[in-house]
Parts: sequence; structure tokens; C-alpha cells
Amino acid sequence: MIMILLGAPGSGKGTQAKVLSAKYGLRHLATGDIFRSEIAAGTPLGRKASEYVKSGKLVPDALVSEMVAGRLEFDGGDTLLDGFPRTLEQAQSLAGFLAPHKAGVDLVAYLNLPRAEILKRLTSRRVCLACGEVYNVVTRPPAQEGRCDKCQGEVIQREDDSEATVLKRLMVFEDLTQPLVAYYKSENVFREIDADRSPEAVSADLSAMIDQAAAAR
Ligand code: AMP
Repeated sequence: MIMILLGAPGSGKGTQAKVLSAKYGLRHLATGDIFRSEIAAGTPLGRKASEYVKSGKLVPDALVSEMVAGRLEFDGGDTLLDGFPRTLEQAQSLAGFLAPHKAGVDLVAYLNLPRAEILKRLTSRRVCLACGEVYNVVTRPPAQEGRCDKCQGEVIQREDDSEATVLKRLMVFEDLTQPLVAYYKSENVFREIDADRSPEAVSADLSAMIDQAAAAR
């Protein structure tokens, strides 16, 4: 099964992806995480992507699609895509990778959240540099300020989670999502979820959708 989690930055894609990939044994491919680790490691790809990621712009389609093609290594395994595709061009590239394997996207789950809530979540979000655990200074601060509860790593605010950059990322998302939504609706794989609820309630809905999509295959 190929499943896509679609949603604005801060809609809970990463949190849900962790839960679902553990529950269903899905391979989790998160393009934002990959770019951040390539940037931290100073690889050629990281150097090319760095300016875009730090300023909240999208990395050019050709670079993203090439990177995903290299990692998708399609083997019939179940995959959860998180943060990709983000544009119609990327969705078309993905369809192109899958077609020779007689595969396609089985489910696109869109986590819908009001703009004000997204802004609140993102500007109070903090992440562990070492293990990626996500905190929130208002609702879930680490026990010791700046230290991860799980691995003692350094907990920081992502450079692109500042208010000005968040606003830019949201505008980019809103502009590019409409055509993507229309495309997946026309493919009859699009489902929408109210993400303005507890992570557990959202996970329960997503699980039901995955069960349904798996039964329909
Ligand atoms: P995320 O962690 O998904 O919010 O992604 C962080 C940043 O990585 C984005 O603001 C983009 O700069 C870049 N990025 C991640 N995925 C993509 C993608 N599919 N297309 C273009 N840029 C991406």
C-alpha cells in the first residue's frame, strides 16, 4: 500500500506517521526529515536544499523527485509518504515511479486544521536535535528545559518555525495544495480528516481509513 499524509506544516503529519508506521509496519518516508539530516551532514544534496529549507521555500521539484526516486526503491512494501508530494508535478512524478510496478497511490489522507491553530502549534513547537521527539512549550514542555526526556539530546526551535517563516510556509502550502487535492480527488483516493482534535482521535480515524483501503485492494 502507498499512503500519503497530506496537511499543512504543523497539522500533525509527523506525529501520526510515527504512530501509523509502527502500528502497520509501514516504511515512513518524510522528505522534510531527510532534507534536515542531509543539511546537518553537509552532503551535496543538503547543500543544494539548505537555502530553500531554511527560508521556508519549497525545494525545486526536480531535486525532490530525484531524491525520492532514489529512496523509494519500490519493492512492493507498504510505504507512508509524509511531506511528499507537495506539488502537482511531484504527484505526477510519483505516479511515474509507481506505474512500471503496476502500483499506484491507495490512500491520501488530508489532515485539515484551521490556520490560527496551525500558527499556534508551529510557533510553540520544539524538537529534539538528536532523536526528533516533538515537544510544545505550552502543552508538552520537556521536564528539563532544553533537554529531551527520551534521549537527553538538545531540544530546539526549528529555524523554519519562526513566525515569519511559518507564515511563508503556510502561504506556499495553501497555493500548491488546491491542485494536488483536485488531482487526488479525481483519482478517488482522497479522504479528509478533522485534525483539530486529540492525536488519539485522529489516529483512530486514520487507522479506520487504512483498514478500509487495505480491504478494498
Ligand atoms: P517539513 O518538515 O515537511 O515541513 O519540510 C521542511 C522543509 O523541507 C519544507 O519547508 C521544504 O523547504 C522542504 N521540503 C520537504 N518536503 C518537500 C517537498 N516534497 N517538496 C519541496 N520541498 C520540500
